Amino acid sequence: MKKQKRGKVKQSLKELARERIKTLFKHAETVSPEAGRKAVKRARDVGMKFRVHMPKDVKRKYCKKCDSFLKPGVNCIVRLNQKKQSHIVITCTKCGAVIRMPYKK
Ligand SMILES: [Zn+2]
Repeated sequence: MKKQKRGKVKQSLKELARERIKTLFKHAETVSPEAGRKAVKRARDVGMKFRVHMPKDVKRKYCKKCDSFLKPGVNCIVRLNQKKQSHIVITCTKCGAVIRMPYKK
């Protein structure tokens, strides 16, 4: 058996991991907040294990601090800041963590 380089994960496995993360987030969207939190936790574990970054579109959908799946108007507050550097401010109402995302006009 060929020895694999330490810390390196095959690209095909990474692709699978990304798919898994996406499905878990889709699932989190449809279930209760508590079940959603578990799904987010699992997605993050998968990402950690296979060393993949969270896809851009899911990055703003969860709280990094408490793993909650964020639904605007349910468990998070979304505000737009239009000063010099315009960005979106998402506040998790469960733990108070703040996520800032720059955006272009
Ligand atoms: Zn939170």
